[in-house]
Amino acid sequence: PSITRGVTVEIPKVSWDDIGGLNDLKTKLKQAVEWPLKYADALARLGAPRISGILLHGPPGCSKTTLAKAAAHAAQASFFSLSGAELFSMYVGEGEALLRNTFRRARLVAPSIIFFDEADVVAAKRGTGSSGSSTVGERLLSTLLTEMDGLEEAKGILVLAATNRPYAIDAALMRPGRFDQVLYVPPPDEEARYEILRVHTRGMTIDDDVDLRQIAQETDRFTGAELEGLCREAGIVALRENITATIVHSRHFQTVKSSLKPALTSQEIDSYA
Ligand code: ATP
Repeated sequence: PSITRGVTVEIPKVSWDDIGGLNDLKTKLKQAVEWPLKYADALARLGAPRISGILLHGPPGCSKTTLAKAAAHAAQASFFSLSGAELFSMYVGEGEALLRNTFRRARLVAPSIIFFDEADVVAAKRGTGSSGSSTVGERLLSTLLTEMDGLEEAKGILVLAATNRPYAIDAALMRPGRFDQVLYVPPPDEEARYEILRVHTRGMTIDDDVDLRQIAQETDRFTGAELEGLCREAGIVALRENITATIVHSRHFQTVKSSLKPALTSQEIDSYA
């Protein structure tokens, strides 16, 4: 039925340890997410301001979605996922209904995290689109604002939004009680790339000749998603060479790496920061 279309409910299995690098960010998120969901009463007693929403921004493929899932896992919260682009493309009224419904269901099964990907599509500054499309966007945005404001009453619900274009987000969403925190999720530096490679080779048997430190050094501008792809492909290359192979060697990583170019340019990386 249409009311559940595009919504998935689960407690994700991914944990903080599945995310390489980003240690400061993980600490901030742990506090912002786990505390309000787990210790809402204690925080209220102390008069601590409630956090309703956190905006994660940064280049694609650098773990915004995975961070939101890990946060839900840590807090044992139900995870609802909504996509701005998907809401935007729905029939008139359907997107608003799905938004309202998702918040309603999240309240029913709290603690919950609502992950809102491509938030800028719905939460774009008002009056920037063509007249037709801005009406759809404006209605969705005003529904989102109403629901976010309703969270004052609801305990144990947190909205994590993600965007590559934080500057495009309407200022109304950035007021206190809405997206109170804005966190930058940067592309991985060398140390983070090493940790990401370790995460994604954990389940593989790799030969002693594989030097993950060196691969990390040679993969400047690679995103987490690209590094994950590199590890997966190296395994496939090993199998293509020998279908009974159980060990992945350095040459397999090198073969894949030499055929890959990072999608992000240095200018893009600078522009996200
Ligand atoms: P998008 O903006 O395209 O939605 P995103 O920032 O939400 O991207 P994710 O979907 O979380 O990125 O990450 C894509 C894939 O890359 C995931 O499968 C994840 O496992 C892997 N990945 C990205 N960053 C990391 C990281 N720091 N550690 C481990 N894996 C990572």
